[in-house]
Amino acid sequence: MFHAQVLTLFPEFFDSPLNCSIPKRAIADGAVAVDCIQIRDFATGKHKNVDDSPYGGGPGMLMKAEPVVAAIREARKRQPNTHVVMLTPTGNKFTQAKALKYIEKDSITLLCGRYEGFDERIVDYVDEELSLGDYVLSGGEPAAMCVLDAMIRLLPDVLGSPESAVLDSFTEDGMLDWPHYTRPEVFEGKVVPPVLLSGNHAKIEAWRKEQAKLRIKKHKVNK
Ligand code: SAM
Repeated sequence: MFHAQVLTLFPEFFDSPLNCSIPKRAIADGAVAVDCIQIRDFATGKHKNVDDSPYGGGPGMLMKAEPVVAAIREARKRQPNTHVVMLTPTGNKFTQAKALKYIEKDSITLLCGRYEGFDERIVDYVDEELSLGDYVLSGGEPAAMCVLDAMIRLLPDVLGSPESAVLDSFTEDGMLDWPHYTRPEVFEGKVVPPVLLSGNHAKIEAWRKEQAKLRIKKHKVNK
């Protein structure tokens, strides 16, 4: 079983997305376990503060090193081989290739920030800094959920048809999925490409490859 851990101030964020569709089934079938660790449980002092103002001034608050590092140590104690990933907009980009690499590991631990981010010294305690993309979310939880979802569907026996993950966009470098159609044959005057109704599998495959190539071209231009 693959073990995922999430270090967060908002474990409740994950209740709904992990409780529907593919992640729900994967957890129920024992393909993956997802455990949230509440960072605040590792805060000391009367007020259990997890944040403080930045040295040198400036807006907002930062996640303090002490509780976050204590939570990372707890995660490593629970899963000694875990790969600890700090979610941050300044990290390496998350890709399908990374999702495929992560599932080869025994365990992953996703560290979610809040406020203006982390005390920089925390970086020394993680294995990787990871970004979902060039935009700023209010917290690491939505980013962690995307990483979890992308990974979970790739785990063995999670998808009904294992072939679908192999054919997905980005599985091979630069590859994109082709366009798909289902019933009805005509929708508001828009018809299904006749080749898909031809029953000629060689022609259908050639058409799909051609369409995927056109998409790749378009994707590059729009990047
Ligand atoms: N001040 C930070 C900056 O401008 O780089 C942004 C902090 S953001 C408001 C709070 C937290 O959300 C971050 O510590 C990180 O965990 C998470 N986060 C925001 N955007 C993200 C992204 N694109 N990828 C991954 N995590 C992100």
